[in-house]
Amino acid sequence: MTDLLTYNPVNTGINVLSELPPRTLAKGVTETGASYQKSKHVHELIVKDNQSTTGLGNKSPGCTHIVAAICTKCRLHVELEVKYPEDVDLKGCCPNSTHLLHHFRYDASLSSPLDPATTQLSSQFPIRRDVRVFVCSSSTCSVRAKITCSAPVVTERYKDLLTNKQVLYARRVRAINENPEVYPDKDKHPNPATATRVLRTLVQYQKNVMLRSPPPKDTISWVNKHYLECLGADCLEIMEHLGFKLDEVIKLCLLCSKLIS
Ligand SMILES: [Zn+2]
Ligand SMILES: [Zn+2]
Repeated sequence: MTDLLTYNPVNTGINVLSELPPRTLAKGVTETGASYQKSKHVHELIVKDNQSTTGLGNKSPGCTHIVAAICTKCRLHVELEVKYPEDVDLKGCCPNSTHLLHHFRYDASLSSPLDPATTQLSSQFPIRRDVRVFVCSSSTCSVRAKITCSAPVVTERYKDLLTNKQVLYARRVRAINENPEVYPDKDKHPNPATATRVLRTLVQYQKNVMLRSPPPKDTISWVNKHYLECLGADCLEIMEHLGFKLDEVIKLCLLCSKLIS
């Protein structure tokens, strides 16, 4: 867990999760000359309750426990999944009189790590995942631990689309020019949406779906001032990423099952 708190999924040196650290000879100098790259900060992880399972202490054959978290500093998403084998005899599982702790060994065949040579985690879209799987070496246990790290959902491009003043100004100009039926009086131009208004609108659209059960069937009209000025066509990729999609008559349909918190 200590290694996870300084884990950098796109490091180009020795991986702190899957490889043994080299012996350090002096400050910053290792025995093999290999770099041992960690994140620039200690991740401050907060648990995402809605993506985590409850009853973490419960053990049963085949059961899976998940703790999902996000770093408040870099927005890295981290998910820790522990799975018991379907046919396990719980008496043989750690901890027991023979093994007081699990002894997890990295299993490359079950993992799908990022290739640091070709990946910049913070700038990739769709989200890139680094998956590392570890299996307990006790033959009577074989509990599996999977650590999945995912890039921040809000990329630099998303930040620009949602908060950059010039982008918001251009969005307002485009809304007026391309939708004369919505803006019949061109002399009464509205002010560009502020970043606060844009973010509030986006959150409200998500809440409207996520807080309603069963999922609503209604749509967001593409041609309404609020949507055009706050999000418009250029934010469609964000809306689609959140689970919304365009229907055949160019309205946004709500697919709340895909919404990401
Ligand atoms: Zn972090
Ligand atoms: Zn074990």
